[in-house]
Amino acid sequence: MAIRKRQYTSGNPMTSTSTAASRQKTPVYPSVRNFVSGRFVAGAAQSLEVVNPSDGTLLSRVPLSSAADVDAAVCAAAAAFPVWSSIPIKERVQVFFRYRTLLEQHRVELAALIGEEHGKIRSEAEAEISKAIELTEFACSLPQIVTGEVLEVSRGVECRTDRHPIGVVASIVPFNFPSMVPHWTIPNAIALGNCMILKPSELVPLSAGRIAELLTEAGLPAGVFNVVHGAQEVVEAICDHPDIAAITFVGSTRVAKAVYRRGSASLKRVLALGGAKNHLFVLSDADPDMSSSNIIASMSGCAGQRCMAASVMLAVAETDHIVRRLVDHARAVVPGENLGPVISLEAKERIERSIGEAAAAGATVLLDGRNATVRGREGGFWVGPTILDHVRPEMKVAQEEVFGPVLAIVRARDVDQALAIENASPYGNAAAVFTESGGMARYVTDRASAGMVGVNVGVPVPREPFSFGGWNESKFGVGDITGRGSIEFWTKAKKTTTKWNREAGTNWMS
Ligand code: NAD
Repeated sequence: MAIRKRQYTSGNPMTSTSTAASRQKTPVYPSVRNFVSGRFVAGAAQSLEVVNPSDGTLLSRVPLSSAADVDAAVCAAAAAFPVWSSIPIKERVQVFFRYRTLLEQHRVELAALIGEEHGKIRSEAEAEISKAIELTEFACSLPQIVTGEVLEVSRGVECRTDRHPIGVVASIVPFNFPSMVPHWTIPNAIALGNCMILKPSELVPLSAGRIAELLTEAGLPAGVFNVVHGAQEVVEAICDHPDIAAITFVGSTRVAKAVYRRGSASLKRVLALGGAKNHLFVLSDADPDMSSSNIIASMSGCAGQRCMAASVMLAVAETDHIVRRLVDHARAVVPGENLGPVISLEAKERIERSIGEAAAAGATVLLDGRNATVRGREGGFWVGPTILDHVRPEMKVAQEEVFGPVLAIVRARDVDQALAIENASPYGNAAAVFTESGGMARYVTDRASAGMVGVNVGVPVPREPFSFGGWNESKFGVGDITGRGSIEFWTKAKKTTTKWNREAGTNWMS
């Protein structure tokens, strides 16, 4: 923890708006700082409070950096790029072998930090670190994968392709996974020879500093990885900066569209992942226990704040017996015990409003998570598991992302009607089908309009080396953000044609 204390010794006077949390004068950690060229540096004077969502205590303050701060980070990254990109990849990944060991050594401390800034329960926070480790391991394997190709295309003439880094790149991330989502991009982009600027969510900025410290401890040269904290101004400066070659964005669809448009307009590569409305098809032959426990885990894990969370259950034909089990499983999900808070008071109010609107529109509230409290942590932003039955497809709760522990059950007479409902959603991140019939599972997975599809799996996240990415308004740009699918995004291919057969002279291709 000594390193962590050094990071937060800013002492910079910060301005901030007054909220409930700011009445508690002393934050748990000194102000968060940007990380540029291997050092923590003060960001802008303007700042926001960082609050622990499980009790409302003031954790820290995060600077609202400016375009000048982005420029400083880009200069540092650009200065580091010539040397870093010229190191052979087998040497570059040695940093990530050491980094992986550090993640393992610091697993408990890193998970505790996620618990503080995000509110996740311990098992979920530790799972996030496990996933960060898996993502780092994939980057360590890249030398085995990016070997390029060579072929003798005619006698004495060979064509060869190899991959080159694209330069300074930026990764803009959301609040819901303070460590995992940054690790979707950091290890692969950097192992492939790029230098990066990370823009963490202003709601959960603490983990990024520890990532920077551990990468430095693992031997990453100064300037290869930089962190600029802030909000819209930083994101817009990243989109506009002429020396940034590529941007990945993960967050809501509204901002994903804006980043995709603005970044593309300044001729960058952009891959922008957006929000989700995931549909789970439950057929009457589904195993009642397995399907209901999976669905509840999917809708309530991380308090429903996952882009892969179950949001709409399409109950096909006679499924009342499964709905009853669902409610039983959901009753075992208890705020403060095995369910964390949502990220903010605004989020709690938004989620509770959408439950109220659904009830007013005619949905049957089987389980109501509004007004949840946890004794001793009354300042936290708690929402209990909520199940709404007989939701109609045109209701807002069936169409818009709720991003809380809320499941809307829409009844469908047959699987084709259920597919029509799913296909009409503008999103397309994930879908899943619960059935004992292989034929029906295939029928649904072939026709669901989603990039990641599960069979009897509530959270169908493809694990490395497979790639993560949705369809439709859940992703803008080509390729996926993790695994093998990300290699094309983070590199450019050079095609070299070589002739060793001088006697051939010239022909139609040379
Ligand atoms: P968000 O869009 O509000 O914020 C994401 C990032 O954009 C943050 O770094 C934030 O500072 C920045 N930002 C916010 N408003 C901005 C604006 N007007 N202009 C420029 N930048 C802005 O998302 P969030 O609330 O942090 O995260 C939740 C959302 O992310 C959900 O919609 C969820 O589905 C989505 N998400 C998607 C995936 C995926 O893989 N598709 C993964 C995780 C989260």
